[in-house]
Amino acid sequence: TKVLLTGGSGFIAAHILDQLLAASHTVITTVRSQSKADAITAAYPSQSASGALTVAIVPDIAQPNAFDNVLQTHGANLEVVLHTASPFHFKFSDPKTELIDPALIGTTSILKAITKFSPSVKRVVVTSSFAAIINEAHVSDPTTIFNEKSWNPVTIDDIHRNPATAYRVSKTLAEKAAWEFVSDPSNNAKFDLVTINPPMVFGPVVHHLATLEAINTSNERIVHAIKGKWREEIPPTGQAYIWVDVRDVATAHVKAGLGLVEGVSGKRLFVVSGWFSNSEIAGVLRKNFPEDGDKLPEEGVKGGKLPDEDKRFGYDNSETTRLLGIEWIGLEKSIVDTVRSLKKVEGSA
Ligand code: NDP
Repeated sequence: TKVLLTGGSGFIAAHILDQLLAASHTVITTVRSQSKADAITAAYPSQSASGALTVAIVPDIAQPNAFDNVLQTHGANLEVVLHTASPFHFKFSDPKTELIDPALIGTTSILKAITKFSPSVKRVVVTSSFAAIINEAHVSDPTTIFNEKSWNPVTIDDIHRNPATAYRVSKTLAEKAAWEFVSDPSNNAKFDLVTINPPMVFGPVVHHLATLEAINTSNERIVHAIKGKWREEIPPTGQAYIWVDVRDVATAHVKAGLGLVEGVSGKRLFVVSGWFSNSEIAGVLRKNFPEDGDKLPEEGVKGGKLPDEDKRFGYDNSETTRLLGIEWIGLEKSIVDTVRSLKKVEGSA
């Protein structure tokens, strides 16, 4: 099957790309710079030579016609589009132009380009987020059960509250725009839509792309922990407290996108492994990497605990688990594999 994967240089997308190529699909992936294109091509020499892998450059996804060129060139017989490219970092100065525009216009520009140039596309999978599900006012409320139908009530007016909220707005508006696009008959979309909504994603980094200095946002806390930044005090976990492994997120994209599972058309898939806290991560690190003991917080170091059950939200992703049939990777394995991959990156630096 011919698949277009946007943002192929990303933490999650690198795993999707790997799974797609391992299953012998033909993949066109987009990145925004020649150096990233070269790194991906070099990592898959035989697929690049055979034409199974093409890396295309889309310099700025915040342009309304950003994806026209790539769909014009590669849209023939394309069946599946996986749209993962979207900013996930808190290093912006203007949330509107640096977060909202690439997230929102990036999503609408790819959907428009598909309808214009690639009527063969049957399914589009958009990487959304728990950010589009969570309601910040209810995170401490045990009677709130977030599930596939929950929507974050934020609007564009909330982008200046704080960086985390601005990111959540970008994901919420982008996902909403995607659902509105397919439900508006005037757009004449010939494809159906699935969204994948992961919470915090941990897991191994793909070696040829990662550096510890520019680690992806969700693995940043693990880098901090192994570099000794948690030694005196474990930082707060954040508001979200739920997580999933990157390999399961990639599998969800592939299973849903390639139609390997039934019943996902038009669905939001809430891919969750379980609860986590920074304090639990610290325990996993202490147990599995005793050789790093001088950098890790000792047992009993305060901070980073999960609130008691009666002081945090609930969640229910049983429908997603049933539809996808994924046995979610557990926290200990995920963190151990993450650290091993980070050590490999560091060792080769
Ligand atoms: P990464 O930062 O590793 O990947 C983000 C991808 O989007 C990269 O390919 C990046 O390109 C691209 N991108 C970011 N900003 C722009 C821009 N302005 N123009 C063009 N491309 C851009 O993060 P993840 O892999 O974690 O994120 C992938 C997707 O998953 C995103 O949609 C994110 O919102 C979503 N997600 C991630 C979660 C997590 O915990 N990791 C949780 C829930 C959702 P480049 O390599 O050039 O920077």
